[in-house]
Amino acid sequence: MTPPAGADGRDRPGEFEIIGDIFAPLAAGAPGAWGLKDDAALFHPTSGFETVLTVDAMVAGVHFLPDDPPESIAKKLLRVNLSDLAAKGAVPRGYLLVTSFPADIDTGWIRRFAEGLAADQARYGVTLWGGDTVKTPGPLTLSLTAIGEVPEGRIVRRGGAQAGDDLYVTGTLGDAALGLAVLKNEIAGLDAAHAAFLAGRYREPEPRTTFGQRLPGIAHAALDVSDGLMADLGHLCSASGLGAQVEFHRLPVSEAGRAALELHPELSDLVASGGDDYEILFAVPPGRAGLADAAAAESGVRIARIGTLLPAGKGVTAVDEAGREIPLKRLGYRHF
Ligand SMILES: [Mg+2]
Repeated sequence: MTPPAGADGRDRPGEFEIIGDIFAPLAAGAPGAWGLKDDAALFHPTSGFETVLTVDAMVAGVHFLPDDPPESIAKKLLRVNLSDLAAKGAVPRGYLLVTSFPADIDTGWIRRFAEGLAADQARYGVTLWGGDTVKTPGPLTLSLTAIGEVPEGRIVRRGGAQAGDDLYVTGTLGDAALGLAVLKNEIAGLDAAHAAFLAGRYREPEPRTTFGQRLPGIAHAALDVSDGLMADLGHLCSASGLGAQVEFHRLPVSEAGRAALELHPELSDLVASGGDDYEILFAVPPGRAGLADAAAAESGVRIARIGTLLPAGKGVTAVDEAGREIPLKRLGYRHF
């Protein structure tokens, strides 16, 4: 039974309404999810594949803005996880969802959140397999576990890069960090279309799902850029036991990003340090450059070669066009 609306007129849903009415339709088409009516779900991996699991949590005010549209929050939650699967070369299949709602959440908000999930389920070919919903005295907190599969033995790990590999990145960098600045009204005078593009990159990142599935056999190592390019490069170098040099002027910047940086040149380090872009950083042996280009073209994704992996003793450095070293502290590089 639906609880009565509170004194403020908000319609506050109960747990069974949330699961039965709002989330159960997201499980349609998932044979092992039984309409979310059992204690657990069953997954039959495709023969010759192994299962890849990843989980990410997001907290209002930390990972998204509390007044972001609920559809966008849902999409970002799913997409940051699909991005991790993409970086491992996996095909996404399904997901588990835990929602911790503040007591004053209303049904309309949750319905819009579910609509965002439904749209992305169709877009990325995944279904909801289970989860839990609870009330919290704290801010809205969401956790999503994505399940994918990759041909046996073909997962692309963070380790595995070799000295001499070229470093590549998909898409463009810095957009999400600039988008967050736009949403906080910190970038004045930007063309409305550019502002909307950057805000969209913050709110609804684009996981490189199709391209990621082509990484096995091409990339020695990969990860997605969530903390910022230099920070994530640090993770890749740490796992691979290598150093690296990034050529700052080769970092790909969108047209909207360029427009924002023309107005605010002091923000240009965000290209290397800004988080939340969810592009894929990957290491390719020079002999496979043609394969990487072909995979990018077939996936409709732009890739850029941005540097080189070096032996561990060389450390991690960034240089400008003239070959001058750029201080790493400025670029958000965290030593491991
Ligand atoms: Mg990641």
